[in-house]
Amino acid sequence: MKLTVLQEVAAKAATCIACGLHKNRIKSVFSSGSFDAQIMIVGEAPGADEDQQGLPFVGRSGQLLNKILLEIGLDRGNIYVANICKCRPPDNRKPHPHEMSACFPFLEKQIETINPKIIVTLGATAIEGLCGSGLGITKRRGKVEKYKEVDVLPSLHPSYCLRNPPVTKDLKSDLLIAKEMAYGKTDQT
Ligand code: SF4
Repeated sequence: MKLTVLQEVAAKAATCIACGLHKNRIKSVFSSGSFDAQIMIVGEAPGADEDQQGLPFVGRSGQLLNKILLEIGLDRGNIYVANICKCRPPDNRKPHPHEMSACFPFLEKQIETINPKIIVTLGATAIEGLCGSGLGITKRRGKVEKYKEVDVLPSLHPSYCLRNPPVTKDLKSDLLIAKEMAYGKTDQT
């Protein structure tokens, strides 16, 4: 059932022309991971590698994310990963508000269908797109917010950690909090 729903929505995203981001799209980037995930990760938008492969977080940022998840005992295959925008903004710019709004129904359907225990947003744009604007991400991260009935934990984007390696520990500790919220304090993944 989840598979059918999400395949239909992904097919719509692949041919969507609701905002200008479709113009430079090689592949839309809908999701990766498990439909039965307890944890959902939401990023901003695809980059060049993701646009080529049609999968989220496969470039350098994704490699750092994978490394951190492994270090805290989480299997990325058990996590559902998506973005606010499904098409790559030119020159990796931040998506405009109207582009995020146009794309939001896809994410809304993904969240409704996956029904995760917790959503971790990566970067300022992702939490703004999901829960609205607020404090800067370095102050906002690590504190639980809500999207409808679902807990949302804002954290840092791995690309920011690549540029500022000392803050990688903050992303790691936020993902650890998410793991504990999803599974309790066991090693279950
Ligand atoms: Fe459609 Fe979203 Fe791509 Fe814009 S970013 S064209 S709304 S799928």
